[in-house]
Amino acid sequence: MPTIVKCPSCQASVPWVAASEFRPFCSKRCQLIDLGQWANEENRVPAGKNNDAETSMQIDIEDIEALLSDHPDEFFK
Ligand SMILES: [Zn+2]
Repeated sequence: MPTIVKCPSCQASVPWVAASEFRPFCSKRCQLIDLGQWANEENRVPAGKNNDAETSMQIDIEDIEALLSDHPDEFFK
């Protein structure tokens, strides 16, 4: 029986096997969603600079996909 992990994005059960290409995510979509959240946090302005609370750094899924296809190996090290 394979180890089952929970998808960090949607909490779905994902078997930890080679066939689960995006583990621990259930799908590429969830992987990108999680990556997008991480990127948004990284880009959040430091505390003390409140004048543009409306973030202008919305990361687009398409951009992330482009990034991933540019550097797939670097990214998953
Ligand atoms: Zn998921």
